[in-house]
Amino acid sequence: MARIVMKFGGTSMAGTERIRRVANLVRKQAAPKEDGTRDEVAVVVSAMAGETDRLVNFCREANALYDPAEYDVVVASGEQVTSGLLAITLQGLGCKARSWLGWQLPIRTVEAHAKARIEGVDGAALGASMAAGEIAVIPGFQGLAEDGRVTTLGRGGSDTSAVAVAAAIGADRCDIYTDVDGVYTTDPRIVARAHKLRAVTYEEMLELASVGAKVLQTRSVGLAMREGVRVQVLSSFVDDEAAPADSLPGTLIVSEEEMEQLVENGDMERQLVTGIAHDKNEAKVILTRVPDKPGAVAHIFAPLAAASINVDMIIQNVGRDKGETDVTFTVPQADLPRAQALLEDKRAEIGFNRLIADSKIAKISVVGVGMKSHAGVAATMFGALAERGINIQAISTSEIKVSVMIDEDETELAVRVLHTAYGLDAKEEAA
Ligand code: ADP
Ligand code: ASP
Ligand code: MG
Repeated sequence: MARIVMKFGGTSMAGTERIRRVANLVRKQAAPKEDGTRDEVAVVVSAMAGETDRLVNFCREANALYDPAEYDVVVASGEQVTSGLLAITLQGLGCKARSWLGWQLPIRTVEAHAKARIEGVDGAALGASMAAGEIAVIPGFQGLAEDGRVTTLGRGGSDTSAVAVAAAIGADRCDIYTDVDGVYTTDPRIVARAHKLRAVTYEEMLELASVGAKVLQTRSVGLAMREGVRVQVLSSFVDDEAAPADSLPGTLIVSEEEMEQLVENGDMERQLVTGIAHDKNEAKVILTRVPDKPGAVAHIFAPLAAASINVDMIIQNVGRDKGETDVTFTVPQADLPRAQALLEDKRAEIGFNRLIADSKIAKISVVGVGMKSHAGVAATMFGALAERGINIQAISTSEIKVSVMIDEDETELAVRVLHTAYGLDAKEEAA
């Protein structure tokens, strides 16, 4: 017997027909095995594809400066619908199933509405229900604040709900079912010759997710790494005869030690670069003629930090003649209007001349633990982009990542060029 958490994303839950396919997969996982034992199964679901966007738009239409607590009430409803529908569908297939809403378990959260963080999941009732042979269906994305109000976890948050539930019930595996059959070297919708990775380390997946590979929400990977949850990414779009998930058809997120073992056994090849990701959701801000003196940048970034606006890439140009300099940085596009307003407010204190904002940028990142021990990854990146005439506007690095900021229109081209430059293209026969 194993305890399994199965998570289904928006595309998998889009409509009653697809929910029926999901119910079939769940029923298969929960069915008695040849040796008479059966898995205990909890299912975490997303809202139907497009539904959360629709609900967010309603909030914006109602009031552009909406109250985040009420936004949470609205957007959490998408997952309430699909969890109930899946429980009903499972019951129709003869399975014992019930839904457990975020406030019923509860999934306790802290911090801001609309981007709440899970502090803990009470697994007791869930464990008892599963042990009694009931399939637990849990809406992802939603939780309960300390003050008793509904919260949501930020876009893509159902992945994090699933990992948190898996940790709380000591699940043997957390299977993330989505519309692609695993984690690829880059987004397979952009590069047809991307290839599926059999395994990827937590560290690399965390970095890939944080720079835009939205196949897993960043927080879900961090949580899985901390709690030691075994995560697998796989497709829900399989035919009824497909092998069960236990035979590991997707991508496993593994520890560095497990990865070394796979490489030693010849099951994985170590590449210098594991994956490439892109992110079009950032915006560039340039402040011109900022005083070139100690404390100047602190004046810029302190108010942004106080407003929980995350600044990513930062460049300060070489000072001009008159003790002035230009400062360029990126913020999430969604936070740009607030950032602009805050900086304009502090114009006198900061002492800049012009504020130039540009949302038409993209960040392209290459990620791989191989970079820790090998030089030349950044040079290859810059060379390959230069050869195609792609201009780099900013650069940032970490131990296992190099990111560049480029014009948004060149995103797809840049990702393809780099995928080839690092030798990641699938061989003809496999493509
Ligand atoms: P879900 O609704 O199931 O949560 P998402 O849309 O959040 O699905 O994530 C799956 C999508 O992530 C895929 O359709 C794919 O386009 C995208 N994606 C981006 N980078 C990668 C990658 N490296 N490997 C696989 N998919 C990726
Ligand atoms: N429905 C939410 C979203 O679209 C959460 C999720 O799907 O993970 O962001
Ligand atoms: Mg998702």
